[in-house]
Amino acid sequence: MNTRTALDIWETALGEIQLQVSKPNYRTWFEKTVGLSYQDHLLVVSVPNTFVAEYLDHSQRSLIEKTLIGVLGSSEVRVTFQVNGLHQTANGYGKFLPAISHHPGLNPGYVFDSFVVGETNRIAYEAARDVAANPGKSFNPLFIYGGVGLGKTHLLHAIGHTVLSRNMQVTCVSAEQFTNDFVSSVRERRTEEFRAHYRNLDILLIDDISFLSGKEQTEECFFHTFNELHNSARQIVVTSNQPPSALLLTEERLRSRLEWGLVVDVKPPDLPTRLAILQAKARQKGADVSTDVLELLAEQAKQNIRELEGSLNRIVAYAKLLRASPTREMAELALTSVAREPPAVEAGTPALLLQAVAESFHLTVDDLKSPRRDREAALARRVAMYFLRRETGISITQIGEELGGRDVSAVTHAVKKLTTELETNNFLKRRLADIEKRLSSPGRPASP
Ligand code: ADP
Ligand code: MG
Repeated sequence: MNTRTALDIWETALGEIQLQVSKPNYRTWFEKTVGLSYQDHLLVVSVPNTFVAEYLDHSQRSLIEKTLIGVLGSSEVRVTFQVNGLHQTANGYGKFLPAISHHPGLNPGYVFDSFVVGETNRIAYEAARDVAANPGKSFNPLFIYGGVGLGKTHLLHAIGHTVLSRNMQVTCVSAEQFTNDFVSSVRERRTEEFRAHYRNLDILLIDDISFLSGKEQTEECFFHTFNELHNSARQIVVTSNQPPSALLLTEERLRSRLEWGLVVDVKPPDLPTRLAILQAKARQKGADVSTDVLELLAEQAKQNIRELEGSLNRIVAYAKLLRASPTREMAELALTSVAREPPAVEAGTPALLLQAVAESFHLTVDDLKSPRRDREAALARRVAMYFLRRETGISITQIGEELGGRDVSAVTHAVKKLTTELETNNFLKRRLADIEKRLSSPGRPASP
């Protein structure tokens, strides 16, 4: 088993999935997932909670498996989801862990070594290092806040890894998970177990505290947990998208406690930091991406490191799909398809494209969409898929739909096949040139 490979496989798949589902959908269900292991065609993916596990299992399985088939080029692949991964159930895979997880649930990639320090996150980084080196004796609590995708969770987990390596008791949960755990412990009459778990910690890491807003009972429970830990000099670290002063908490007492220690922020990274981050991520992935491509990505994604990473994943996925090394053109294509959300392609574009392809092959658009499997129609269809992929921002799923309901793996396969065919087939090259001409001057016949 190779964890590195599982991480990469899943990252690449995420790059593809990001193109196929809406942004909110991606955020909610895919964003916090990590590839854990890959063995005997079984990919284990760590997910933050049982809701995500169940949703992905029931509603996104076919998309995920099709994407993985594309990524791995093997149809045998299966996937299973594990809540906060790093554990495996006694009887193997596919079972979810109980609600109160007694393991820290840390993303293996979120360590200090992989965190790139720049002017906009230096103070947060130094504070996190300090707390990790002296938990309970440094700033307590440490409160890290800032916008989405700026490294708060990364720093939180990095603290967790450091402390864990010294055999201390760590729990890292999102406020959402804390809430769910609390609620189910009440329902299942396990509040004693719940309290005992939290009371015995050396360090409690709470992600996205603002989730507690308006949940009075959970807030109160957290308040007591906080006090118990703080009174016995145990460390608490909290992240938030807002400073304590802006949190909508029922308990004023809780807010003031959150301000007791040190409050630090992370800001959007400057250009040199963005470039450094991309270089580090590309290296981690073992992806060979030239500096000018990385510069292009760094210039585009300004606000958010997650997007920066997303664009890198996407271009690596594109390159893999096209079996080529990433170029600036590919980066531009990958980036425009992100910028278009919802796809800003004029409604007519895919239709015009199909028209041009059909005409060039002396077929009709209906032929392209039909189940016809003869060589001519199949080739024209592949060309159409290739063009839709190259020229429009629409997803693989949509391309399949445009062409009469072909599935994702068929489209992925067709695009790959055509790319290979193009290397040697002069007839095809002429067809493509012909179609391009038709597209640049629609309405006029391009070739005899
Ligand atoms: P937040 O919790 O602030 O929304 P995350 O910690 O989840 O953001 O970061 C989003 C992504 O960006 C993660 O993959 C993380 O590893 C990466 N990232 C953020 N900041 C840095 C950094 N300074 N160096 C390297 N990677 C970073
Ligand atoms: Mg976060």
